[in-house]
Amino acid sequence: MKRNKYIIGNWKMNGDKSSIKVVNTINKSLQRKRYNSKIVICPPFTVLDFYSRSLKRSKISFGSQDCHHEESGAYTGCVSSKMIKDIGAKYSIIGHSERRQYQNESISEISNKIISALKENLKVIFCIGEQDSEIKVRTKILRKQINSLPAKIDTNKIILAYEPVWAIGTGKTPSLGDINSIHQNIRKIISKKFNPKIGKGISILYGGSVNPKNASDILNLDNVDGALVGGASLKARDFCKIIDSYN
Ligand code: PEP
Repeated sequence: MKRNKYIIGNWKMNGDKSSIKVVNTINKSLQRKRYNSKIVICPPFTVLDFYSRSLKRSKISFGSQDCHHEESGAYTGCVSSKMIKDIGAKYSIIGHSERRQYQNESISEISNKIISALKENLKVIFCIGEQDSEIKVRTKILRKQINSLPAKIDTNKIILAYEPVWAIGTGKTPSLGDINSIHQNIRKIISKKFNPKIGKGISILYGGSVNPKNASDILNLDNVDGALVGGASLKARDFCKIIDSYN
Protein backbone atom coordinates (compact mmCIF):
# COMPACT_ATOMS: atom_id res chain seq x y z
CA MET A 1 0.00 0.00 0.00
CA LYS A 2 1.34 3.40 -1.02
CA ARG A 3 1.39 5.87 1.83
CA ASN A 4 1.65 9.65 1.67
CA LYS A 5 5.07 11.00 2.58
CA TYR A 6 5.66 14.22 4.45
CA ILE A 7 8.46 16.50 5.52
CA ILE A 8 7.03 18.85 8.13
CA GLY A 9 8.79 21.74 9.80
CA ASN A 10 7.84 22.72 13.34
CA TRP A 11 9.23 26.18 14.02
CA LYS A 12 8.05 26.13 17.64
CA MET A 13 8.31 29.63 19.22
CA ASN A 14 10.72 30.86 16.54
CA GLY A 15 10.46 32.80 13.32
CA ASP A 16 8.77 36.00 12.24
CA LYS A 17 7.95 37.75 8.97
CA SER A 18 11.65 38.04 8.13
CA SER A 19 11.78 34.23 8.02
CA ILE A 20 10.07 34.57 4.64
CA LYS A 21 13.65 34.34 3.31
CA VAL A 22 13.81 30.78 4.61
CA VAL A 23 10.42 29.89 3.16
CA ASN A 24 11.15 31.50 -0.23
CA THR A 25 14.45 29.64 -0.52
CA ILE A 26 12.70 26.34 0.24
CA ASN A 27 9.93 27.16 -2.22
CA LYS A 28 12.37 28.07 -4.99
CA SER A 29 14.33 24.91 -4.49
CA LEU A 30 11.11 22.86 -4.68
CA GLN A 31 10.33 24.39 -8.06
CA ARG A 32 13.64 23.21 -9.45
CA LYS A 33 13.49 19.58 -8.45
CA ARG A 34 11.47 16.42 -8.20
CA TYR A 35 10.56 15.38 -4.71
CA ASN A 36 8.05 12.88 -3.53
CA SER A 37 6.78 14.20 -0.24
CA LYS A 38 4.30 16.84 0.84
CA ILE A 39 6.05 19.81 2.42
CA VAL A 40 4.43 21.53 5.37
CA ILE A 41 5.67 24.33 7.64
CA CYS A 42 4.10 25.12 11.01
CA PRO A 43 5.14 28.62 12.11
CA PRO A 44 3.89 30.42 15.25
CA PHE A 45 0.29 31.72 15.21
CA THR A 46 1.51 35.33 14.89
CA VAL A 47 2.74 34.72 11.34
CA LEU A 48 0.62 31.75 10.25
CA ASP A 49 -1.86 34.06 8.53
CA PHE A 50 0.97 35.92 6.76
CA TYR A 51 2.58 32.74 5.43
CA SER A 52 -0.66 30.96 4.53
CA ARG A 53 -1.76 33.92 2.42
CA SER A 54 1.62 34.99 0.97
CA LEU A 55 2.48 31.49 -0.20
CA LYS A 56 -1.02 30.37 -1.13
CA ARG A 57 0.04 29.21 -4.58
CA SER A 58 3.36 27.75 -3.52
CA LYS A 59 4.38 24.13 -3.15
CA ILE A 60 4.42 24.52 0.63
CA SER A 61 1.40 24.01 2.85
CA PHE A 62 1.08 25.60 6.27
CA GLY A 63 -0.18 24.41 9.59
CA SER A 64 -0.55 25.48 13.20
CA GLN A 65 1.33 24.03 16.16
CA ASP A 66 -1.84 23.64 18.24
CA CYS A 67 -5.55 24.45 18.17
CA HIS A 68 -8.38 24.90 20.64
CA HIS A 69 -11.31 22.53 20.47
CA GLU A 70 -14.07 25.13 20.86
CA GLU A 71 -15.03 27.21 17.84
CA SER A 72 -15.03 30.49 19.82
CA GLY A 73 -15.66 31.74 23.34
CA ALA A 74 -14.06 32.86 26.59
CA TYR A 75 -10.71 31.10 26.16
CA THR A 76 -8.14 33.86 26.55
CA GLY A 77 -5.03 33.34 24.49
CA CYS A 78 -6.39 30.39 22.52
CA VAL A 79 -6.91 29.94 18.79
CA SER A 80 -9.62 27.64 17.46
CA SER A 81 -9.41 25.09 14.64
CA LYS A 82 -12.01 27.14 12.81
CA MET A 83 -9.82 30.27 13.00
CA ILE A 84 -6.86 28.27 11.72
CA LYS A 85 -8.94 26.91 8.83
CA ASP A 86 -10.31 30.38 8.03
CA ILE A 87 -6.85 31.82 7.33
CA GLY A 88 -6.10 29.07 4.85
CA ALA A 89 -3.91 26.76 6.91
CA LYS A 90 -4.33 23.10 6.05
CA TYR A 91 -2.72 21.24 8.95
CA SER A 92 -2.48 21.32 12.72
CA ILE A 93 0.07 19.69 14.96
CA ILE A 94 -1.74 18.25 17.99
CA GLY A 95 -0.33 16.61 21.10
CA HIS A 96 3.29 17.73 20.75
CA SER A 97 5.27 16.57 23.78
CA GLU A 98 6.23 20.16 24.64
CA ARG A 99 2.54 21.00 24.98
CA ARG A 100 1.87 17.82 26.95
CA GLN A 101 4.75 18.79 29.25
CA TYR A 102 4.49 22.59 29.59
CA GLN A 103 0.75 23.09 29.06
CA ASN A 104 -0.23 19.88 30.83
CA GLU A 105 -2.34 18.75 27.90
CA SER A 106 -4.27 15.63 28.80
CA ILE A 107 -5.24 12.67 26.63
CA SER A 108 -8.89 13.82 26.61
CA GLU A 109 -8.01 17.44 25.80
CA ILE A 110 -5.90 16.22 22.90
CA SER A 111 -8.76 14.01 21.79
CA ASN A 112 -11.12 17.03 21.71
CA LYS A 113 -8.59 19.02 19.71
CA ILE A 114 -8.30 16.23 17.15
CA ILE A 115 -12.08 16.06 16.78
CA SER A 116 -12.37 19.82 16.30
CA ALA A 117 -9.52 19.97 13.76
CA LEU A 118 -11.06 17.13 11.74
CA LYS A 119 -14.42 18.87 11.84
CA GLU A 120 -12.77 21.91 10.25
CA ASN A 121 -11.17 19.66 7.65
CA LEU A 122 -7.64 20.32 8.88
CA LYS A 123 -5.17 17.47 8.55
CA VAL A 124 -3.95 16.43 11.96
CA ILE A 125 -0.28 15.81 12.69
CA PHE A 126 -0.75 13.81 15.86
CA CYS A 127 2.41 13.52 17.97
CA ILE A 128 3.07 10.58 20.23
CA GLY A 129 6.22 9.52 22.04
CA GLU A 130 7.65 8.37 25.32
CA GLN A 131 10.35 9.49 27.69
CA ASP A 132 13.28 7.10 27.81
CA SER A 133 11.67 3.77 28.66
CA GLU A 134 11.93 0.07 28.01
CA ILE A 135 9.81 -1.69 25.38
CA LYS A 136 6.87 -2.80 27.53
CA VAL A 137 6.43 0.61 29.16
CA ARG A 138 6.85 2.35 25.81
CA THR A 139 4.16 0.24 24.16
CA LYS A 140 1.79 0.97 27.01
CA ILE A 141 2.41 4.73 26.76
CA LEU A 142 2.03 4.78 22.98
CA ARG A 143 -1.16 2.73 23.15
CA LYS A 144 -2.60 5.12 25.74
CA GLN A 145 -1.68 8.17 23.65
CA ILE A 146 -3.18 6.58 20.53
CA ASN A 147 -6.45 6.33 22.44
CA SER A 148 -6.86 10.09 21.85
CA LEU A 149 -7.86 9.23 18.29
CA PRO A 150 -11.57 9.11 17.51
CA ALA A 151 -13.31 5.77 16.89
CA LYS A 152 -13.13 6.16 13.11
CA ILE A 153 -10.21 7.69 11.25
CA ASP A 154 -9.29 8.46 7.67
CA THR A 155 -5.63 7.89 6.77
CA ASN A 156 -5.70 10.98 4.54
CA LYS A 157 -6.63 13.16 7.50
CA ILE A 158 -4.48 11.80 10.33
CA ILE A 159 -0.70 11.70 10.19
CA LEU A 160 1.13 10.18 13.13
CA ALA A 161 4.46 11.57 14.27
CA TYR A 162 6.47 9.33 16.55
CA GLU A 163 8.78 11.56 18.57
CA PRO A 164 10.68 10.01 21.49
CA VAL A 165 10.81 12.89 23.97
CA TRP A 166 14.46 12.28 24.81
CA ALA A 167 15.42 12.74 21.14
CA ILE A 168 13.78 16.15 20.68
CA GLY A 169 16.36 18.90 20.38
CA THR A 170 19.11 16.77 21.92
CA GLY A 171 21.01 15.57 18.84
CA LYS A 172 20.30 12.00 19.97
CA THR A 173 18.20 9.54 17.99
CA PRO A 174 17.17 5.91 18.51
CA SER A 175 19.06 3.38 16.38
CA LEU A 176 17.69 2.88 12.86
CA GLY A 177 16.57 -0.61 13.85
CA ASP A 178 14.68 0.78 16.84
CA ILE A 179 12.96 3.50 14.80
CA ASN A 180 11.79 0.94 12.24
CA SER A 181 10.58 -1.58 14.79
CA ILE A 182 8.81 1.03 16.94
CA HIS A 183 7.01 2.33 13.84
CA GLN A 184 6.07 -1.24 12.97
CA ASN A 185 4.74 -1.69 16.49
CA ILE A 186 2.71 1.53 16.18
CA ARG A 187 1.22 0.14 12.94
CA LYS A 188 0.24 -3.01 14.85
CA ILE A 189 -1.44 -0.95 17.59
CA ILE A 190 -3.33 1.05 14.94
CA SER A 191 -4.32 -2.13 13.06
CA LYS A 192 -5.70 -3.62 16.25
CA LYS A 193 -7.54 -0.46 17.31
CA PHE A 194 -9.01 0.25 13.86
CA ASN A 195 -8.30 -2.37 11.21
CA PRO A 196 -5.30 -3.71 9.27
CA LYS A 197 -6.06 -1.50 6.26
CA ILE A 198 -5.78 1.64 8.41
CA GLY A 199 -2.64 0.24 10.04
CA LYS A 200 -0.99 -0.28 6.67
CA GLY A 201 -2.24 2.99 5.20
CA ILE A 202 -1.47 5.48 7.93
CA SER A 203 1.62 7.66 7.48
CA ILE A 204 3.96 7.53 10.46
CA LEU A 205 6.64 10.20 10.56
CA TYR A 206 9.70 10.14 12.75
CA GLY A 207 10.64 13.25 14.75
CA GLY A 208 13.55 14.03 17.06
CA SER A 209 16.89 15.52 16.00
CA VAL A 210 16.47 14.85 12.28
CA ASN A 211 19.22 16.69 10.42
CA PRO A 212 20.82 16.63 6.94
CA LYS A 213 23.30 13.96 8.08
CA ASN A 214 20.89 11.37 9.46
CA ALA A 215 17.83 12.16 7.29
CA SER A 216 18.54 9.79 4.42
CA ASP A 217 19.02 6.75 6.66
CA ILE A 218 15.94 7.51 8.74
CA LEU A 219 13.64 8.49 5.89
CA ASN A 220 14.40 5.46 3.81
CA LEU A 221 13.40 2.97 6.51
CA ASP A 222 10.43 0.78 5.45
CA ASN A 223 8.09 1.94 8.18
CA VAL A 224 8.97 5.63 8.11
CA ASP A 225 6.83 7.91 5.95
CA GLY A 226 8.53 11.21 6.56
CA ALA A 227 9.87 13.46 9.27
CA LEU A 228 8.70 16.10 11.69
CA VAL A 229 11.66 18.45 11.89
CA GLY A 230 12.21 21.06 14.60
CA GLY A 231 15.55 22.90 14.72
CA ALA A 232 16.68 22.03 11.19
CA SER A 233 13.47 23.39 9.65
CA LEU A 234 14.52 26.94 10.47
CA LYS A 235 17.56 26.71 8.23
CA ALA A 236 16.64 26.67 4.54
CA ARG A 237 19.75 24.75 3.48
CA ASP A 238 19.28 22.04 6.09
CA PHE A 239 15.57 21.66 5.43
CA CYS A 240 16.17 21.46 1.64
CA LYS A 241 18.86 18.82 2.19
CA ILE A 242 16.43 16.79 4.30
CA ILE A 243 13.82 17.02 1.52
CA ASP A 244 16.49 16.03 -1.04
CA SER A 245 17.50 12.97 0.93
CA TYR A 246 14.01 11.48 0.61
CA ASN A 247 13.80 9.37 -2.51
C1 PEP B 1 10.05 18.60 17.32
O1 PEP B 1 10.02 19.33 18.30
O2 PEP B 1 8.99 18.25 16.77
C2 PEP B 1 11.34 18.16 16.84
C3 PEP B 1 11.39 17.11 16.10
O3 PEP B 1 12.43 18.90 17.21
P1 PEP B 1 13.97 18.68 16.80
O4 PEP B 1 14.00 18.29 15.33
O5 PEP B 1 14.63 20.00 17.02
O6 PEP B 1 14.50 17.59 17.65
